[in-house]
Amino acid sequence: PTAVAVRGVSKTFGNGASAVTALDDVSFDVPQGSFLSVLGPSGCGKSTLMRLVAGLQPASTGTIEVAGGTPDEMRRAREFGIVFQQPVLFDWRTVEQNVGLPLQIMGRPKGEARERVEHMLELVGLSDFRKHRPWQLSGGMQQRVSIARALTFAPPFLLMDEPFGALDMMTRERMQTELLSIWASNPGTTVIFITHSISEAVLLSDRIVVMSARPGRVLKVIDVDLPRPRT
Ligand code: ADP
Ligand code: ADP
Repeated sequence: PTAVAVRGVSKTFGNGASAVTALDDVSFDVPQGSFLSVLGPSGCGKSTLMRLVAGLQPASTGTIEVAGGTPDEMRRAREFGIVFQQPVLFDWRTVEQNVGLPLQIMGRPKGEARERVEHMLELVGLSDFRKHRPWQLSGGMQQRVSIARALTFAPPFLLMDEPFGALDMMTRERMQTELLSIWASNPGTTVIFITHSISEAVLLSDRIVVMSARPGRVLKVIDVDLPRPRT
């Protein structure tokens, strides 16, 4: 079944002579439980597309359906785990407090939350750092905290906007493998992963939406059928 249906979506910022068309008539489907990458050069509208799917901004025209509802409804229902290019963490909270925040906001019982946080910290290899503050960690570790937080409440949708863009190559490769194993151990999780790296898209994805810049259009939708590294 289709989890996300993007239909003829356009997005224009501003109006008149200064209007910028970020997305022009974009359409594609994301099958439920799949790993889809959006690949394209800088400025082709990838981040805009993610904000639209996440319900953070409205489309100018066209429709996006997420699990049969609107992005805004799904955002309010906390269906999305979101990871941005730069980790957004609270420096005065410990690693485990950061990871547990969505569960706390959702009012989950403390014991259950604590167990879930520990499990996620183990998955991203940060169990020994649970009492640290984000500023005491490297960039790669901070990004792993963000990923753990986005996954703590087992969101049906994981939206990631160039999450490894700021990492060095070795950390990046380790994180790619970790992400695939986390995804494989959470069946049913649908991932939309934004990247400008062809190799990253090919390594990670079931389906790749290739975009062109100015204006942001879909050039091609490619289904990938390659064995992927799993741990
Ligand atoms: P990408 O993520 O592929 O680099 P973006 O979605 O960030 O692309 O941007 C696509 C285009 O939309 C760019 O030309 C950018 O300048 C423009 N854009 C994005 N957000 C805004 C905004 N809030 N206001 C005006 N223009 C914007
Ligand atoms: P507010 O509505 O008060 O602006 P939220 O309740 O939306 O704040 O979220 C506060 C923080 O909790 C976010 O900055 C984020 O770190 C975390 N959070 C909430 N919802 C999610 C989510 N769906 N995915 C990842 N983190 C989330």
